[in-house]
Amino acid sequence: MVSLYDQTALEALRKRLRLDPRVIRKVRSIFLRSFAGSVQALESVPEANRPDLAEAVRFHELELAESRHSVRDGASKLLFKTRDGQSIESVILRIATGRSSVCVSSQTGCAAGCLFCATGRLKGVRNLTTAEILDQVVRAGEALAGEGRRLRNVVFMGMGEPFHNEDNLFTALRQLEGADGFHLSGRHLLVSTLGIPDAISRLSRGFPGVGLAVSLHSARQEMRDTLMPLTRRWPLAELRQAILERNKSGQPVMIEILMLDGMTDTPADLVALTEWLSGLAVHVNLIPYNPPFGAGEAAIKGSSESTVSAFLAGLKKAGFKATRRYSLGSDIGAACGQLAQR
Ligand code: SF4
Repeated sequence: MVSLYDQTALEALRKRLRLDPRVIRKVRSIFLRSFAGSVQALESVPEANRPDLAEAVRFHELELAESRHSVRDGASKLLFKTRDGQSIESVILRIATGRSSVCVSSQTGCAAGCLFCATGRLKGVRNLTTAEILDQVVRAGEALAGEGRRLRNVVFMGMGEPFHNEDNLFTALRQLEGADGFHLSGRHLLVSTLGIPDAISRLSRGFPGVGLAVSLHSARQEMRDTLMPLTRRWPLAELRQAILERNKSGQPVMIEILMLDGMTDTPADLVALTEWLSGLAVHVNLIPYNPPFGAGEAAIKGSSESTVSAFLAGLKKAGFKATRRYSLGSDIGAACGQLAQR
C-alpha cells in the first residue's frame, strides 16, 4: 500500500492506475485540508476510481490508542501507536476564540536528555517518518473538525528534538506549507529547538516564514549545560549568531525560559539574559515548570509566582516583549516537559 503522505509513491501509483492527476489532488485536499476523513475523501472522486484507491492507499500511519481530556482546560492528549509498536503523543490545545493548535512529536523519545523533561528519559529513540509526523496533524484536525473547530496552528514542541530529525521535519514542513498539501501559512507553524545553530540557519534559508522558538532557559553557559547536557556542543555565542541571522529575514524568535527556583530565575540570571538578548529581535516566553510525575525530580523546583512576576517585569523594564506561558493539560501529563509519562 502507498501512504497518502508519500507524494512520490502516490504519483507512481497514479500513473500505474492511469488516474487523472485531479483525482489524487482532490483526495489529498479533502483529507489534509478539510480533515473530513478517508471515507469522505474517497467519496469526493468518481465512483469508478474508488475501489482502486481504497485498496492501494493507506490514509493513516498511526493508530489512535487513547485520548485523554483535561478537566481543567481545553487540552487533550492523543496517544498513538506506530506501525512498529512504539508509543508517541500529541497534544491538542483549544483556546476560547476557537482557533486551535496541535503540538506534534518528531521522535519517539529524545536523546538530548534534558534534566527537567520526561521525554528525555525514554530509551530506544527513533525518528518519526514524515508520514507519522503529518498523521498527528490530520488526527488532531479530524478530532477538532468533529467539534466544529478548525485546526489553525502546528507547533513542533512534542516529543523529540525536531532538528535531530531534520530531513523528515523539512519534508513535513514542505507539505504543511505547500499548496498541494495542507496549505498552512508559515505564520501558523512553529519549530521549537534546544538551539542547534547550523540547523537554525538551514531552517532560516529553507523556511523563512516558519516560526522558530529556542529553549534557551539560561544565558549562563554553565547552567544551560547542566540543564541540557547536549548544549555543551554549541556555545551560546554561536547560538546568538544564528538568531541574529534569522532576525535579518524580518522574523523575531521566541526565546523560552523555564522558570526554575534558584537555577534560572535569580537577579544574576535576569542580568545575563538581558545582556545576551540585547540587539536581538525576540519575544521572551517564561514557562512555569511542570514537575514530571514520579520520583527523583526533587532537585528541581519551579519558581514561585512572585518570582516569575518580578522576572517578567524586569524583562519588560529592559525593553523586551515578554509573556508568561500558561501551560495547558498539566492534569493529564500533556503540559510542556511532561510528554511520555504514563
Ligand atoms: S526538553 Fe525537548 S530537547 Fe530536551 S529532552 Fe525534552 S524533548 Fe528532548
